[in-house]
Amino acid sequence: MIKKILIANRGEIACRVIKTAKKMGISTVAVYSEADANALHVKHADEAVCIGPAPSKDSYLRGDLILQKAKALNVDAIHPGYGFLSENAQFAKACADQGIIFIGPTIEAIEAMGSKSAAKQIMQEAGVPLVPGYHGDDQNPTLIKQSANDMGYPVLLKATAGGGGKGMRQVWSEQEFDDALAAAKREAMSSFSDDKMLVEKYLTEPRHVEIQVFCDNHKNGVYLFERDCSIQRRHQKVIEEAPAPNMSEALRAQMGEAALTAAFAINYSGAGTVEFLLDTDGSFYFMEMNTRLQVEHPVTEMITGEDLVEWQIRVANNELLPKEQSELSIKGHSFEARIYAEDPNNDFLPATGTLHLLKTPETNANVRVDTGVEQGDEVSIYYDPMIAKLVVWDENREKALSRLESCLQHYAIGGVTTNIDYLRRIAGSTPFKQAQLTTDFIERHNESISTQTSVDVDTYLPAIVLGYLLSEHNQLEGEPEDSPWNIHDSYRSNLAHPELIELLVNDKLYSVSATMNIASVESPKQWTLHINQVEMTVSGSITDDTLTCSLNGVKTASPIMFNDATISLFTSQGMLTAQIQGPDLGEVGEDDHANAVVAPMNGTVVALLVKAGDKVTKGQQLIIVEAMKMEHSIKAPYDGTVAECFFNTGDLVSGGVALIDITKSDTE
Ligand code: ADP
Repeated sequence: MIKKILIANRGEIACRVIKTAKKMGISTVAVYSEADANALHVKHADEAVCIGPAPSKDSYLRGDLILQKAKALNVDAIHPGYGFLSENAQFAKACADQGIIFIGPTIEAIEAMGSKSAAKQIMQEAGVPLVPGYHGDDQNPTLIKQSANDMGYPVLLKATAGGGGKGMRQVWSEQEFDDALAAAKREAMSSFSDDKMLVEKYLTEPRHVEIQVFCDNHKNGVYLFERDCSIQRRHQKVIEEAPAPNMSEALRAQMGEAALTAAFAINYSGAGTVEFLLDTDGSFYFMEMNTRLQVEHPVTEMITGEDLVEWQIRVANNELLPKEQSELSIKGHSFEARIYAEDPNNDFLPATGTLHLLKTPETNANVRVDTGVEQGDEVSIYYDPMIAKLVVWDENREKALSRLESCLQHYAIGGVTTNIDYLRRIAGSTPFKQAQLTTDFIERHNESISTQTSVDVDTYLPAIVLGYLLSEHNQLEGEPEDSPWNIHDSYRSNLAHPELIELLVNDKLYSVSATMNIASVESPKQWTLHINQVEMTVSGSITDDTLTCSLNGVKTASPIMFNDATISLFTSQGMLTAQIQGPDLGEVGEDDHANAVVAPMNGTVVALLVKAGDKVTKGQQLIIVEAMKMEHSIKAPYDGTVAECFFNTGDLVSGGVALIDITKSDTE
């Protein structure tokens, strides 16, 4: 009886497994690397142990260490998630040797599917359809070339030890063959230390359709239907869906049965995925079998209503499968979009950084966000850059797709470059709506889905300006009692003295004048703005990183992020970023007032907001200088204590003079 599970993984899948374990009353142990000490999976687990430094090879791939910890903590079973040790037969064996249940198939099944060519051999014998090709042991190049010539071009060379699209080459003619074989072998050797090749017919317009299978230890097996994962970039899945569009019941049953035949051929147990290529004429071919839970398993859960992790745990517990084939059915349609920290405009290079802003769409029975990070977390160079999986469900494809689009629109991530806008463009494209799904979808429609939609600056600039004004005024909350800002009479320093704000947006400079209107203390702050000679009224507030903006009476709400002088607004059209220009911090002089803030220009002090001895925090307003009818607020460049104020309200100051001396706090 499994009472305690160790999850030998991190991120969203570790959180996902913990969730089901909790539901089943099973206690959980998280393992983490030094880089993940504060990660979500560590917080969610009942116990957590550190297994080493950040690099995976020193932590998440250290099967020996993980087993040691599992033993020490009296763990009954290990869930490997996906990736890392999930398809490592040696690790599964080591678990068995230690009397710990490995939540996955048998060692023999993992080994059998570990080599593409050996797997094909087994499947051929079992009568599972294969892409025509050669996958024998004899690696004589002439023999391989001859089989390519015999089946006709194009063909696809694949490393038998391959994965992740490495060691794969398309060959379009006999003339190209020798060079392509040599190149694929080199790549395979450097990636897998094994240059054994297989060659198969290259299908030009296939779909990637995979079947979820499940078997128990009592010779029962079912299939939980299919997922279409044709939307791929560099052979990596981007958006998956279930069921596959335009599947006839007959084809579904045929593929399901073929997948089960494959599973039974290797005495399978647990969750497995049999991947097929589905050709335009309805023929399908076995590609490979993944002997673990897949990243995209949630779409299957959404359409079947089953919890696949629960099934895995029950099977590992030697129970019978929770359901028989006749009890399973498809309800509605589901999509999964993988939210990645990557730059679609720069060849999908992984991005790193701090998730300064992280707002997910509202989750409910129809919207699920599987993630392992929260706002403020770091996306590091060490691990897969997937931030989250957005999973939606609805009664049919059209409705589910519209829900996906709307959720992507409400997903805001700041601080790290992501593929969210790119996903939006795929989801919103006509060929995707029409379910023209082929594995070359992204290549084929590259031009239209790579074209960035620009955010309409005129529409959103007033909101950004409001955000800036509010953030300035928010700083004043918590002012000392005697602060001039806390005298709530009708005086407003900027009244009739418009503040000039200069913003750089998409390399264009915008000048905005803002005049604060008289308002009661309780009502939201309101300004009259002039942008390009157009007058408008804005008011609103910022709560929980969301700006509510009323522009001439029309209200909108958008996530907003401040990062030094940069403001980013997450609009329904995408992210708009503005750089606030101008002398906001003043310059630190080099003379005897080395710690002083200086006047940005000639002007008059209209408000002195601090006095000697006051403690100030970085960004806090210190003094307001008016010049040419515009006000410039000067803020503290760092945390510290005011040593001396050199001027008073009403004094004239010249540009460059020291205004206030601040002793920097010793933060160390
Ligand atoms: P890897 O294990 O390296 O990811 P796979 O064998 O799973 O390689 O294939 C990855 C992807 O390559 C498939 O999803 C499909 O898009 C494409 N592919 C594989 N074999 C063929 C083929 N014979 N014809 C056309 N495309 C193929």
